[in-house]
Amino acid sequence: MALVTTTEMFKKAYDGGYAIGAFNVNNMEIVQAITEACREENAPVILQVSKGARAYANHTYLVKLVEAAAIECPNIPIALHLDHGDSFETCKSCIDGGFTSVMIDASSHSFEENIAITKRVVEYAHDHGVVVEAELGSLAGIEDEVNVSAEAASYTRPEEVEEFVARTGCDSLAIAIGTSHGAYKFTPEQCTLNEQGILVPPALRFDVLEEITKKLPGFPIVLHGSSSVPQNYVAMVNAHGGKMPNAIGVPEEQLRKAAGLSVCKINIDSDLRLAMTGTIREYFDAHPDHFDPRQYLKPARNNIKEMVRHKLINVLGCAGKA
Ligand SMILES: [Zn+2]
Repeated sequence: MALVTTTEMFKKAYDGGYAIGAFNVNNMEIVQAITEACREENAPVILQVSKGARAYANHTYLVKLVEAAAIECPNIPIALHLDHGDSFETCKSCIDGGFTSVMIDASSHSFEENIAITKRVVEYAHDHGVVVEAELGSLAGIEDEVNVSAEAASYTRPEEVEEFVARTGCDSLAIAIGTSHGAYKFTPEQCTLNEQGILVPPALRFDVLEEITKKLPGFPIVLHGSSSVPQNYVAMVNAHGGKMPNAIGVPEEQLRKAAGLSVCKINIDSDLRLAMTGTIREYFDAHPDHFDPRQYLKPARNNIKEMVRHKLINVLGCAGKA
């Protein structure tokens, strides 16, 4: 199957009460891990590439790796998406270069400028059969070149979404309801302690999501910054020479709840990074004499694959939906 847009995926996900996983890809092992899990679980998938990924791996390599995955996984729909396009030019080069979906993130601009920039991308994208994700509101946290302090972050204003979507013609909308980029989504001060003495992050603002859904019935909503930062991998990193104190993510049951509502795309990146880094650190500790990259990349790839499988089945609900 050739690469597809997200239109059909999102329609089915909305009606079916599940979400599509949007996983960031940066190299061959990550592409293989994600798509092998999706192939085995018969799940549709979005592989997304950030500006940082294009700078690291080169546009052509990434497109060809994803096209190779589509050949190896002919029975599942795969979309290739630009994550956080920062300008018309970046979006255009991806639209011209084989992507089926782009995000234009002009959320740091004023409402009117966000509309103008997004509309320009939508017009070019739709002329070329490509769909567009836009953003209103801003998430806290750090992801590649996107860096927003907790003070500068703001929830999406439900009263703005209808006008924004109508005037831009965007195909999906990323909103801010309390998720956050990176592996340090919440400070310990923002969290509460449960009976076991474990930090529990603040709940997502489902009231805001509900208001937005009322204004945009049937319209696909996107959640960025939705890694859960599994504590077993944080512990693995820290046990083998790493230093990631107080790494905290969004609880998986909250994401599952969002997936059952109007959220059709959930972005996951940090969890894959953690699985890879934890596994490689542990491997190096256990085998200080090994130096063949295949030896440590193989278990890393396998652990990413198992993490993706877990997300498809238990968090996104998209297993069996290809
Ligand atoms: Zn993001």
